[in-house]
Amino acid sequence: MLQRNQTRTVKIGSVTIGHGHPIAVQSMCATKTTDVPATLQQLRSLQQAGADIIRIAADHKKDAAAIVALRQQSDATLSVDLQENYRLAETLAPHVDKIRYNPGHLYHHERNKPWREKVAYLADLAARHDCALRVGVNAGSVDPDKLAAARGGDSAARDSVLPMVESALEHSEWLDQLGFTRYCVSLKDSAPRKVIDANRMFAAARPDIPLHLGVTEAGMPPSGIEKTSIAFEQLIGYGIGDTVRVSLTLPHAQKHLEISAGQKMLADIAAGRVRTVVHFKENQLNLISCPSCSRVENEAFIELAQQVKERTQYAQQHAITIAVMGCRVNGPGETDDADLGLWCGPNYVNLKKRGKKLGAFKYEQILERLDEELASLINAPTT
Ligand code: SF4
Repeated sequence: MLQRNQTRTVKIGSVTIGHGHPIAVQSMCATKTTDVPATLQQLRSLQQAGADIIRIAADHKKDAAAIVALRQQSDATLSVDLQENYRLAETLAPHVDKIRYNPGHLYHHERNKPWREKVAYLADLAARHDCALRVGVNAGSVDPDKLAAARGGDSAARDSVLPMVESALEHSEWLDQLGFTRYCVSLKDSAPRKVIDANRMFAAARPDIPLHLGVTEAGMPPSGIEKTSIAFEQLIGYGIGDTVRVSLTLPHAQKHLEISAGQKMLADIAAGRVRTVVHFKENQLNLISCPSCSRVENEAFIELAQQVKERTQYAQQHAITIAVMGCRVNGPGETDDADLGLWCGPNYVNLKKRGKKLGAFKYEQILERLDEELASLINAPTT
């Protein structure tokens, strides 16, 4: 039996997390939200695999209408992922069990409105419609004010861990002041070490708040599973974490493997089948890819991620990070820390090298260009 932090409880539909309740395993639909038959099929497949909570992204009004239609046809515990358009919550709150918002995305719409007003609006809707909230902080889209304040700070600040934790603490305090306590928090990064550091820091400051754990853009199995299990072992093994998502780059038909991977990790941790030392091959090739969602801009994304993995195998012994993302919304930010970053558009794949954009290349050209850039990094004289 795992020892767990004695957090508050948070009710999410028929599921309750925190304070000794079982750790809930969740996943997210990667189909286009507006494709109701395909999304319903994915919802069912995730439910059959044992998903406790299933998240769906809503970018615009058509997505919100599709989620309302899905609610009529599914009894799954539903969480909606509000992207930039936080006002969609008004349509969705009566139909879902949880609303996830990202503090870093609250700046995109109605720029002159203070974020506290926007959070108060979300909390009010959630309270009136029997919904939980998740404050979902992500390293690729941290609150810009927190990042700016951290500039010139210590190493934890520079690598975004501290800004993430500060943003999550600030939002938690504000929700508490509003009298809304039915929320959990997540602090995600693609690096297991940062996920461990951020969640430990947050849990030390606020041991009462349930945590949703995940390593974002962990990539394809098996390395994506390995990265995630390293973080989970070092957190859940110490009582931190109340719900988990394993983010894997998988074709739609295999998305349910995120659930079985999460269930196996929890069983292994409970049985003590864990590593004792955190070590994720930090001096080797690190391939990151997003788990895909309804915002993927070209169906070729999964295949592209697989091809990047195959073509770069020869570089295993080089400490180079390559990131492959499915869309232009999060792609640019999520590839900032990579040596080579790719993100998809409908017809082109964008390529960045150590923060500098190299251009947009057709799908049939991008791999060759990637080969060249990877070779140039490998052959660059060391300083
Ligand atoms: S990078 Fe874009 S496509 Fe990939 S999971 Fe994030 S939002 Fe979805």
